[in-house]
Amino acid sequence: MRDILPAERARWRQVEERAHHCAARHGFEEIETPIIESAMLIERGVGESSDAGGKELYRLQPMTEASVPLVLRPEATAGVVRAYHEGHLGAGGVPVRLYSLGSMFRHDRPQAGRYRQFHQFNVEVLGEGSGAIDADLIELGWEWLAAVGLEGVGLELNSIGDESCRPAYLDLLRAYYRPLQDRLHPDCRRRLEESPLRLLDCKEAGCVALKARAPRITDHLCADCARSLAEVRELLQGAGVPHRVNPYLVRGLDYYTRTVFEFQRDNDEGAQSALGGGGRYDGLSAALGFADTPGSGFAMGLERIIANLPGELGGEPRPPLDLLVLIEEGVVSSAGAEVARRARQRVAAAADASPRSLKAKMRSASRAGVRWVALIAAGDVEGRRLRLRDMVSGEQRELDWDQLPEALG
Ligand code: AMP
Repeated sequence: MRDILPAERARWRQVEERAHHCAARHGFEEIETPIIESAMLIERGVGESSDAGGKELYRLQPMTEASVPLVLRPEATAGVVRAYHEGHLGAGGVPVRLYSLGSMFRHDRPQAGRYRQFHQFNVEVLGEGSGAIDADLIELGWEWLAAVGLEGVGLELNSIGDESCRPAYLDLLRAYYRPLQDRLHPDCRRRLEESPLRLLDCKEAGCVALKARAPRITDHLCADCARSLAEVRELLQGAGVPHRVNPYLVRGLDYYTRTVFEFQRDNDEGAQSALGGGGRYDGLSAALGFADTPGSGFAMGLERIIANLPGELGGEPRPPLDLLVLIEEGVVSSAGAEVARRARQRVAAAADASPRSLKAKMRSASRAGVRWVALIAAGDVEGRRLRLRDMVSGEQRELDWDQLPEALG
């Protein structure tokens, strides 16, 4: 886990604000779901056999024997789909477009760029199964990456078929891998019969080499799936979103259908690192025990995106205060508080009521980088006067407390 300290938080906020802006422009509404969910929901939604839903899942110690087993969410989709159904969000018409920003938790092996608490920008569309929805949310992700200033981003796209074409393809995949079993990573050997698609996702060198000759799903799509992939591609082209079809890009779980995609960035070593990804999950609602509802979405990792940003986003960070009220010893602190309150109508302001000399206070105001100081000496209180000093020009003028907001422009 890591702290996001103030100097860095300003940049985070800009990245988040741009996410809010891009999502709103595409008609998405913000949703917030708890970071704790029932273990059953997450296990069904993320898949017990996946890392995020299995060995990386943080399980809460039950408070009583009767407690429902709870976990820290490793991703947002299952919770958002639960909230969609429990909150009857589809009652007002579909599709329903939802987004959220928040913390996820995975007990991952500590390594560069991987945290046990990390943050995602998550986007989901529920209630419509068309490729146009997939293209729209990819376009939203693309716009956001451009808006935060990330360069060198690539998009990989694939279709993993549906219930009418995928079973036959999975048979072909098993038939390809069975004679090669001895050369597979032990995890992949185990996955071969149950979830062969996941073999295509393995990063072990031996498995990567075998993948190159594996049958490609794009050669085995049914007409509906092929049409949907073509529609997504055409819409992305129209939107000016460059992409590459990677027939080996997969999401390993059964409820994923058709479109899958990943945003990647070329790193310095020439390798690709995933900024985020997503896909269509038309089978998820039913797998969670809710009414059958098509869905599509993506999750992007904020840590990874922020770590990849060039230079400063939107210029130098601003000092937290624009103005400090400096009161001389003996002046009641309520005078400083009142003047600061007036200044706050226009700028960020606070009063320095510490028992130090005005000279010492001036020094710390200058270190804090404030634009103005308002000086109140003992003799000023009765007449409600102050001296406003511009710390850049050194100019100083005398004013009434009431005139302060106006003088700050
Ligand atoms: P996933 O939900 O596994 O598809 O992950 C989506 C994105 O979340 C990834 O591409 C990363 O950017 C980010 N992500 C996933 N796991 C972590 C982690 N442990 N630490 C930081 N970022 C992560």
